[in-house]
Amino acid sequence: MRSFHHRRGSPVDLGIAHPITLSCHCGSARAILRHPPHHRVDVELIENTKTYEHESGKTLHFCPVCGARLLLTVHRHSPRPLVGCIEDPEDVEEGVWDIGITRETGSLVETDKLQGSCLCGAVLFSVRAPRAEDHVDGWVKEGKFATGLCFCRSCRTTTGAPYWNWAFVPKVLISVPRSSTACLEEYRSSENAVRRFCGICGETVFYKNDVMGKGVLWDVAMQTLHIPEGASERDWFIGLYDGKGEALDIDRYIEGWMEGRPSFESEGWEFLGRDKVDNIAREWREKWASSR
Ligand SMILES: [Zn+2]
Ligand SMILES: [Zn+2]
Ligand SMILES: [Zn+2]
Repeated sequence: MRSFHHRRGSPVDLGIAHPITLSCHCGSARAILRHPPHHRVDVELIENTKTYEHESGKTLHFCPVCGARLLLTVHRHSPRPLVGCIEDPEDVEEGVWDIGITRETGSLVETDKLQGSCLCGAVLFSVRAPRAEDHVDGWVKEGKFATGLCFCRSCRTTTGAPYWNWAFVPKVLISVPRSSTACLEEYRSSENAVRRFCGICGETVFYKNDVMGKGVLWDVAMQTLHIPEGASERDWFIGLYDGKGEALDIDRYIEGWMEGRPSFESEGWEFLGRDKVDNIAREWREKWASSR
């Protein structure tokens, strides 16, 4: 029996006086929000979106072509933009990605598998723990999968999130039942990349890149995976950026946000803090090399 818990979302203060535009990666869905006086936000335009209504009264508006979530409305009011799809993030003092809906963590019958699901539960899948023979240099070792955060425009505008957390999993370890495959929509976000998202709630679940992952790895959206009670994320994953399997300390390397710079696109590597990224990447490579 599936049920979803409701969590209080963070307050949203758009802090802007002029309209903002939200658009998805494929360009077919769009929304324009206005912020008139009296702390109200109005939707001026919303086009080509599909909605997913959650029992909590919250509605997600997402693009049916690329899966991007543009905004969330609460009981059909209070539109909240999802920052990854805001066209000019420089003008937004505070946006929201915490959509205030959490999914059930579920319970596992098999201890060597992680269960995964999208928000609405239409897409269900499992990931089997890697064994010695599943080792992939740089990605899978000692029974753990590497994970990484991505801040690229493609990830942001296909999800609505300000960044995306991926786990890198060999496709052979992922099982998707046929009923769930039928709910997965495909979107080719670049020449070599295919993203798969739930056609009902819009949640991005998988990413495959024929060049980077050599067709072997699928990236799995971390938030879709349920860590069983009594286990910890570190039992399964190693963060690519901290290399220790510790909980990711985002502040450690996102200087851009800490200092109020607008985006990766406008700032390039400086946004993340070039030195930090180089250092962390080097540490990570050395760690992998020395423990091979
Ligand atoms: Zn789209
Ligand atoms: Zn779904
Ligand atoms: Zn990305």
